[in-house]
Amino acid sequence: MKDIKRVGVLTSGGDAPGMNAALRAVVRTAIYNGLEPFAIYDGYKGIVEGDIRAIGARDVSNIIQRGGTILKSARCEEFHTRKGREKAAKNLLEKGIDGLIVIGGDGSFCGANIFSKEFNIPIGIPGTIDNDLYGTDYTIGFDTAVNTVVEAVDKIRDTASAHNRLFFVEVMGRDAGCIALQSAVASGAEAVLIPEVETHFYELEEYLNSELKSHKNSGIVIVAEGEKHGGAYQIAEKIGKDYPEYDIRVTILGHIQRGGSPTSYDRVVASRLGVASIEALIDGKKSVMVGIVNSDIVHVPFEKAIKNSEEIPTYLLDINKILSI
Ligand code: ADP
Repeated sequence: MKDIKRVGVLTSGGDAPGMNAALRAVVRTAIYNGLEPFAIYDGYKGIVEGDIRAIGARDVSNIIQRGGTILKSARCEEFHTRKGREKAAKNLLEKGIDGLIVIGGDGSFCGANIFSKEFNIPIGIPGTIDNDLYGTDYTIGFDTAVNTVVEAVDKIRDTASAHNRLFFVEVMGRDAGCIALQSAVASGAEAVLIPEVETHFYELEEYLNSELKSHKNSGIVIVAEGEKHGGAYQIAEKIGKDYPEYDIRVTILGHIQRGGSPTSYDRVVASRLGVASIEALIDGKKSVMVGIVNSDIVHVPFEKAIKNSEEIPTYLLDINKILSI
């Protein structure tokens, strides 16, 4: 096994609260183990363009509580090409960097997978608010995003009940309904629509009919943005036509779900995964994502993490149905 001496770290793709906490853990664990850490800026763009700088333990002070990423994140077209990745490998070689930690989501791990086949280098840390990576129970940022949604829905509920309104609240999740599902249960939403399960309007209508009967004075329907019927506005329009008696409003939560200080849960997960990533590197592991399953650290080959989809906890749909009578 080759001894690793210098390790690069980057954040890539969509940013997620807790990426800074993961970075802090990577840098300090590297130093703790006698390695030299290097920060790479703007995701893969930074390796391709050589924006790689030494980073110390004090450079990551006071960031555990900050959202976003101090390393910045970017999308990099050049990294999709063999030429771009060769440039990246050359820049790492020139700096003597023999280990690389990529903090990102599905797309970033597709890049890491190809790069690791060609140059045998990265380890991944799952950082995405979507919680959609196969092989890990949690991804960094998910808990914070759900809490942001719940806080917003609680406020919407106040005004919804004051005016007897039905709100359609659209949350992030183009391909994954995890945020929608979790936040629906946590906020006591009346219904939830997600991309993984086909929406039968008659079910929603059935519910609205029964709601009329049970005299609820407000309603919240959480809609994942990737819902197949076209998002909250389109669904609200359709329901509005069939149910003119409802006073309907739509709220799109948008990018507030990406920002904010990470929850303690995200900070702890990020710290654990940051430490685990350096330990995996020292153990000679390659081309794997570190994850958490049943509270234990696991190592999942990139191939598996990106080619499979994480199963959605559909039991939460049933729970939500029972509890929204
Ligand atoms: P996320 O990690 O949030 O899913 P993206 O899908 O935007 O983010 O991917 C982030 C970056 O990863 C891209 O800009 C690109 O540089 C790199 N990447 C994604 N897919 C590939 C691929 N198939 N080959 C090479 N690089 C890729």
